[in-house]
Amino acid sequence: MQYRTFDKTGQKISLLGMGTMRLPVTEDGQVDREAAISMIRHSIDEGINYVDTAYMYHDGESEKIVGQALKDGYREKVLLADKMPVWLAKDEEAMRSIFDEQFARLEVDVIDMYLVHNVTVPVWKRAQKFHLMDFLEEKRAEGKIRHIGFSFHDQLSLFKEVIDSYPWDFCQIQLNYMDKEFQAGEEGLHYAAEKGIPVIIMEPLKGGKLTDTLPPSVKALWKQAEIQRTPAEWALRWVANHSEILTILSGMSAPEQLEENLRILSQAKPNSLTEKELSIIDQVSSEYNRLIQYSCTSCKYCMPCPKKIDIPTAIRFYNEWFLYEGNPKIKADYPNWLVKDRQPGDCIACKACEDHCPQHLPISEIMKKTAEIFE
Ligand code: SF4
Ligand code: SF4
Repeated sequence: MQYRTFDKTGQKISLLGMGTMRLPVTEDGQVDREAAISMIRHSIDEGINYVDTAYMYHDGESEKIVGQALKDGYREKVLLADKMPVWLAKDEEAMRSIFDEQFARLEVDVIDMYLVHNVTVPVWKRAQKFHLMDFLEEKRAEGKIRHIGFSFHDQLSLFKEVIDSYPWDFCQIQLNYMDKEFQAGEEGLHYAAEKGIPVIIMEPLKGGKLTDTLPPSVKALWKQAEIQRTPAEWALRWVANHSEILTILSGMSAPEQLEENLRILSQAKPNSLTEKELSIIDQVSSEYNRLIQYSCTSCKYCMPCPKKIDIPTAIRFYNEWFLYEGNPKIKADYPNWLVKDRQPGDCIACKACEDHCPQHLPISEIMKKTAEIFE
């Protein structure tokens, strides 16, 4: 395993971090606790020393499983990361209860890396309304958490605003070769790095969409590469090529994925991809983009919608359905992002959104087609 340095403490952190959002599941869809614990422990035995969980992963099971996995001497070997889902708290008291519940689930005394989870415009507003940063400072002073960060899922302008608003110890962004300019993207990575804020990467494989079902034209492009690599290896090597990043979280669901990721990130060096290799990755990325049905830029000029539909997210799901050839993971993920009573199927075709869309997208029609696929 390769390690990069967390400058704040001088600690060496494994380039591959253990994500626990997609733990192994049994045939009935429940988390396979035994397999999950065994995989987390094996990852630590193999040199991983960063384990990331969150309150809502697997409906709270992830935190409990991580807590069990870190018993028997494993806790001392890792940095443990958890996150505050402030959007789930109706008031400050509820936020405090969530925090306490996390410790009860994890059965630990301290969480090393604590993040404001999923920062978006409404989440960031709520965090401020509930004085979340003061609360986290208080918990750090009590010794319950060590380092304060945030994970991010909105536009670059908000990312820069959030970065500049607090002396963060670290941050976490989504980055893969398809998302170079999506959300914080590469510009966000450089922005944080210039400010001396370490960056943790999530979704290096775009939730498995870059590896599970490849469009035939993408397969053909990968075949043209001089060195034959799996799609996972191309994607992870592209992320690891960025010297600024601290660690790459991968939510591994099976021991084989863990073994493959361990192998790749033991070898992939920063700034090591050649011009030719970067060019083939660019060609694959362009091909994926060509396959996109509607080029929504996530600018959100169409919002708010009177039915409270998150329009750009709905369009993203519609696009990804065609891009990744109906990958069932997309359908499974849909209710996490488009909640009941605010789904495209609730669109009343008022077309208020369409007047504001700079891309002139037929939004009401897209909502209808999205609902036909997902609802
Ligand atoms: S057309 Fe549908 S999506 Fe657009 S604003 Fe009206 S209800 Fe919302
Ligand atoms: S205004 Fe158009 S391009 Fe912008 S987010 Fe809405 S649908 Fe997408």
